Amino acid sequence: MLAVVLVLAVAAVGAAPQARRRATLVVTGGTVITMDAQRRVLSPGAVAIDGTTIVAVGTPQAIAARFAAADVIPAAGAVVLPGLVNTHGHAAMVMYRGLADDLALMDWLQKYIFPAEAKTVSPEFVRVGTRLAALEMLQSGTTLHTDMYYFEEEVAKATKDAGLRGVLGQTVIGFPVADAKTPAEGLARAERFMQAFKGDPLIVATVAPHSMYTVDADTLKATRNLARAYGAPLLTHLAETGDEVKASLEKHQQSPAAYLESLGVWDVPAVAAHGVHLSDADLAILLRHRVALSHNPESNMKLASGAAPVTKALKAGLTVGLGTDGAASNNDLDMFEAMRQAAFLHKLSDGDPTAASAQTVLEMATIGGAAAVGMADRIGSLEAGKLADVIVVSMRSPRQTPMYNPVSHLVYATRGDDVRTVVVNGRILMRDRRVLTLNPATVLADARRLAATVRAAVEATPAQSSVAR
Ligand SMILES: [Zn+2]
Repeated sequence: MLAVVLVLAVAAVGAAPQARRRATLVVTGGTVITMDAQRRVLSPGAVAIDGTTIVAVGTPQAIAARFAAADVIPAAGAVVLPGLVNTHGHAAMVMYRGLADDLALMDWLQKYIFPAEAKTVSPEFVRVGTRLAALEMLQSGTTLHTDMYYFEEEVAKATKDAGLRGVLGQTVIGFPVADAKTPAEGLARAERFMQAFKGDPLIVATVAPHSMYTVDADTLKATRNLARAYGAPLLTHLAETGDEVKASLEKHQQSPAAYLESLGVWDVPAVAAHGVHLSDADLAILLRHRVALSHNPESNMKLASGAAPVTKALKAGLTVGLGTDGAASNNDLDMFEAMRQAAFLHKLSDGDPTAASAQTVLEMATIGGAAAVGMADRIGSLEAGKLADVIVVSMRSPRQTPMYNPVSHLVYATRGDDVRTVVVNGRILMRDRRVLTLNPATVLADARRLAATVRAAVEATPAQSSVAR
């Protein structure tokens, strides 16, 4: 036995000079759930990162033999997973969290959210709100967020400051809003935003027509042209409620999906959020144009919008990612909870406990989300050549004990707070729960200060006075 060990040691020393290449970071000893094409799970496994990129995934021994790591993150007792991809949200709306709950979508939007936005949205509001959202997202393992809001350049700056990735769409909408008096102004703003962040390593800057019911046909076409010119995925809300479909049928004699097809909006890569009320014909339209769906189960349940036909969409071959939607309709940005609720919702709505399995839902939150935003070639799985967006999730809480199946635990028993370490683009943003890019105390204090302004603005509006009750 001793002789064997000595021989191995000599062989290792002999091989060392040429074999060990540099790695900036190695995450080692955890259960590595790669989400690669074979869905390999290495237990234990290790991930080697050099600069911004994953250079190898293998056993801890194999990685240690091949790489000399400048920094090592031990992950024994934890799961190592691709960072979670949130495919739909409005980050700054964390500032409206809990402001008006228990309402139907159109009431909630028209009586509360749109008026509150008209009084409170400003660059500072968006900056402070997005920083709070970024803190929450990074502490719960989201490494890319998709956003549709106003003053989107502030969202981009806050996202970059946190070190997160963003697919960020400047909203274009058919009525005067805080950052644009007209749709034309919104379009010009969107183009400036897309120009300013073109080629950014963390940000995909794009345009977000709010929906087919808040934006006119010519403006919708113009947003499509912008997305095409900049090679960016168009973001929009689609078929969120039955009322939206009914109104579309009355006004255009077409469903929302068919109407947008007739305008050519689906001629560019697009992410359609919600898609709760999609017919089989609508699903065929989206499939034909490779429009990705962003599924937001918590928002859809809270607003009683309905259950999106996710099982059907997946069976038909659509790309489906998972989203939280804004915190005003959720009310948190925890993608682990979104996964759990997605699984539960479809079991209930399909009347089938095999629907939306843990594996399926985990795919939606990782590689599926990456595909939805057009980045599956760069992120969404742990494999050599991809960008290093990696999270380490502890599996040691009472809630997660014992552990027979890590995928089951990730979906059914894990919470955002179990995330220990977050790496984006090769950079450690949170290490063992310590956030390195933002000062949490400052972020929270700023948000509390801003909340006083929001409260004052809302209470000064007669339509809003019922909010406090
Ligand atoms: Zn939304």
